[in-house]
Amino acid sequence: MGLDQQHWSEECGVVGLAGINGAGELAALALHALQHRGQESAGVSVSDGHTVHTHREMGLVADIFTEPVVKSLGGNFSLGHVRYSTTGSSLVENAQPLQVTCHRGAIALAHNGNLVNAHTLKREMETDGSIFTTSSDTEVFVHLVARSKADSFEDAIAEAVQRVEGAYSLAALTRDKLIAVRDPNGFRPMCIGRFQDSYIVASESCAFDIIGATYLRDIAPGEMVVLDGDGLTSRQVMQPAKPSQCVFEHIYFSRPDSTVFGQSVDAIRRKCGAILGRESHVDADFVCAVPDSSNTAALGYAQATGLPFELALIRNHYVGRTFISPAQKVRDMSVRIKFNTVQNIMQGKRVVLIDDSVVRGTTMRKLVKVIKAAGAKEVHLRIASPPVTHPCYYGIDTPVRNELIASSHTVEEICTYLRADSLQYLSLDGLMEATGEREKYCAACFDGNYPVPFELDISQEIVESSNEILGVGSPDGP
Ligand code: AMP
Repeated sequence: MGLDQQHWSEECGVVGLAGINGAGELAALALHALQHRGQESAGVSVSDGHTVHTHREMGLVADIFTEPVVKSLGGNFSLGHVRYSTTGSSLVENAQPLQVTCHRGAIALAHNGNLVNAHTLKREMETDGSIFTTSSDTEVFVHLVARSKADSFEDAIAEAVQRVEGAYSLAALTRDKLIAVRDPNGFRPMCIGRFQDSYIVASESCAFDIIGATYLRDIAPGEMVVLDGDGLTSRQVMQPAKPSQCVFEHIYFSRPDSTVFGQSVDAIRRKCGAILGRESHVDADFVCAVPDSSNTAALGYAQATGLPFELALIRNHYVGRTFISPAQKVRDMSVRIKFNTVQNIMQGKRVVLIDDSVVRGTTMRKLVKVIKAAGAKEVHLRIASPPVTHPCYYGIDTPVRNELIASSHTVEEICTYLRADSLQYLSLDGLMEATGEREKYCAACFDGNYPVPFELDISQEIVESSNEILGVGSPDGP
């Protein structure tokens, strides 16, 4: 997370390997599979048993890890990270892993998540004389670990995590160890795989597949695993708290070919689509996904309703996710750049358009306009998750509350704004039915039940003028 309040949100991917020849190259390879978790910057730290070395840059994995760079990553321990943050904090000093040398030696840290008490800890440590050089909350971990009097890095990390609150799947590389720990609520995913005679940890199992590793299990909430090249040791460093796995990982964020929280993302997404079909019948000619994030849910919807599935909306893969553009204007433009219709399929048809989620409504409003312009007779929107009414403080990038269209508008109002013929969202019960494990999930973005309290200064958003979002007065607006 960025400690600048404007930029508090971040989504990331982490991978770590221990005791494996070519660990640096393998981490860089695995980061390709995690690229969807962050496209702003990437980095890999390596150790040959003596020296820790980090290469991190702004940009995409394929552009950063060129052959000469990969060749420079010699070592048999590695830690890789991809980062995505919202506006402003796109600085290389915030790229991870963050490597420092403290009294115990060199350490590189990377994490996925969002610490809810980072501001307080930072202020406390600054008052005490600490100097922070980034606006990333990973640095809070760095300082806590460096200040600890504990004998080993493992113990220092075990001590540090007692002070932080919120969501984190953290990995650290030392000279001769890879240490990974998940927060006691288990907000963000992190799993262990088997690779050759050793182990790998990663945010998602798709990072294992790319290098030929096999999924073993998740790191448990509050568990620390230490990979020293000879094997894996585990210890429970915190008592598990209320299970709070992020349901948005299944809705949107993770790849469908991953096992996340011990479950197939594909299977849950398909079920979301099928349940949505059951909950929101409409007479139509075909089902179409907003590619790619909604493909699986749309398939589930089509299979459950018996409607044909058509590839009527085509995505340009060479532009980034629309959400990533910081300024609204750029976001609007990129929707046009990103999607186009297959006109002869749309012409005169009643279309069910499936999207995984509606956040601000920007993407959908544009898409409906484009689809109608392609000659569709009716556009029925079906959203494979409930209305997003609350911001996330645990690491998924959702905008402040007054920018969430469903925070202050009824489904009917949103439908009018989106210029659709009908709109229905998956119910929260339907979503939880799809997971099959209601009690294990955090759904705060849909119901406002935040499992871990957060500092007031990161929640200071007021539902202001709803007209701001709806662009009232400009029905044909952007
Ligand atoms: P919006 O245009 O603001 O309504 O954004 C909704 C679109 O953004 C959907 O098509 C989602 O696939 C995608 N989306 C949802 N959540 C996120 C997120 N946290 N980060 C990036 N994209 C997202």
